[in-house]
Amino acid sequence: MPDQVTHFIGGVPVAEGATFAACDPVTGRQIYRVHEADRDVVDRAVAAARAALPGWAALPAAERAAWTRRLGDAIEERFEDLVAAEIADTGKSVTQTRTLDIPRGAANFRSFAEIAAQRPDSAFHLADVLSYTVRRPLGVVAVIVPWNLPFLLATWKIGPALAAGNTVVVKPSEHTPGSMAVLAGIAASIGLPPGVLNVVNGFGPGSTGQFLVEHPGVDAVTFTGESRTGSSIMKSVADRVKPVSFELGGKNAGLVFADADLDAAVEGCVRSVFTNGGQVCLCTERLYVERPVFAEFVARLAGRARELAFGRPEDEDTVMMPMISAEHRDKVLSYYALAGDEGAEIHAGGGAPRFGDERDGGYYVEPTVLTGLPHDSRVNREEIFGPVCHVAPFDTEAEAVALANDSEYGLAATVWTSSLGRAHRVAQSLETGLVWVNTWYLRDLRTPFGGVKLSGIGREGGTHSLDFYSEPTTITIKLEPGHD
Ligand code: NAD
Repeated sequence: MPDQVTHFIGGVPVAEGATFAACDPVTGRQIYRVHEADRDVVDRAVAAARAALPGWAALPAAERAAWTRRLGDAIEERFEDLVAAEIADTGKSVTQTRTLDIPRGAANFRSFAEIAAQRPDSAFHLADVLSYTVRRPLGVVAVIVPWNLPFLLATWKIGPALAAGNTVVVKPSEHTPGSMAVLAGIAASIGLPPGVLNVVNGFGPGSTGQFLVEHPGVDAVTFTGESRTGSSIMKSVADRVKPVSFELGGKNAGLVFADADLDAAVEGCVRSVFTNGGQVCLCTERLYVERPVFAEFVARLAGRARELAFGRPEDEDTVMMPMISAEHRDKVLSYYALAGDEGAEIHAGGGAPRFGDERDGGYYVEPTVLTGLPHDSRVNREEIFGPVCHVAPFDTEAEAVALANDSEYGLAATVWTSSLGRAHRVAQSLETGLVWVNTWYLRDLRTPFGGVKLSGIGREGGTHSLDFYSEPTTITIKLEPGHD
């Protein structure tokens, strides 16, 4: 790892601004220092993106797609550097990083290159009138992303934004700037026109993130993160009436029916609750299980939770990763304590593990399974964003759907059943942007992705991303016979 992370503006690294420490979540020790972009540095990043915009937007779509594809290909060449950066910042397991996070980053560039290159324009013919639409990029797009899947989530937005002809200024999370620094190096090494991709580092409120979204030269904001941050960004752009795309928090429900394949349901819920330390917006934090299988399900889920391996990131069979920061670990532990206070029965976990080695300085918490809380308890209402779920019984399908829908959030849900009719019926009754049946986190990048209620505004994915990252102009021509 480098000993400092810089910004990337106009195609070159910029080492300006005070520095802050980035810590290894596995040990809590400082691993490098990060420059914080002040208003002046943000100003220069936006100016570089603005200067690059006319040339980039004017390229034929096929040429921009070729650049976007090249970024995806170059990720393969720097694969191990990206794996190392992502692990250093997050403490993720090498297995997950190699099989999910970095390959998905490459796929994000390649998929959106294809989707953009193949997208047809539409035309409507009506007697002697022809209407057609052309799409223009939005301009300079601010990309603001969180720490949980840093590379995957940033590239999910950068890929389509670039392919649609925008230039971007990316602000990674203050906790996880490493993989964007590698991506900046990749952009420079393949000769991506300077200013098309810029990266600024720093914090959110009162810092780089706020300076970026308030900047008059920013034409749109695409943001993934907490719902209350989305609300604050919305206020920042309200006076300028700028488009926003928000992928926000969740309090996702899983419904397990008695007719489900219980082995598959238990294993599926192990993944949906504990993957990435529960730090995926799509993770399940509320499970509702039909009464006849409730006791067995809880016992088996808790048994599996106790088995999950707390190795080091470099061990291939490691499953559990640390929380991203001491602050986030303390937040998750405070919910474990609150669950006890609210009267929960704790079937697994409930605290922080002790290792007797340097990992005791890190930010680990135990995978935790709870039952017995009232539906209205804070633990059942608020997004915890850790490896924890509460399991409650239900008696009827209608009750299960009502419990799942009784949330301020509406991102994702999972349904476990062997009845095809029930699968469709329940899936269509759930007030979420995404429903998985007998699986979880299976993604086709062409499908719309996003949430309802507090979980977001708009959809990205496939042509939905291109719709957000461009504006249609409708051109209507009166065809007058006999006139040139
Ligand atoms: P966060 O909202 O604290 O921060 C996200 C990013 O926004 C960071 O880069 C941060 O520096 C920046 N930021 C914070 N305040 C800002 C402000 N006022 N102006 C501009 N930028 C600001 O979120 P987090 O803790 O990094 O991430 C966890 C959250 O993200 C969880 O709520 C999770 O559910 C959500 N999430 C949602 C999705 C989704 O697709 N819906 C995906 C991943 C994570």
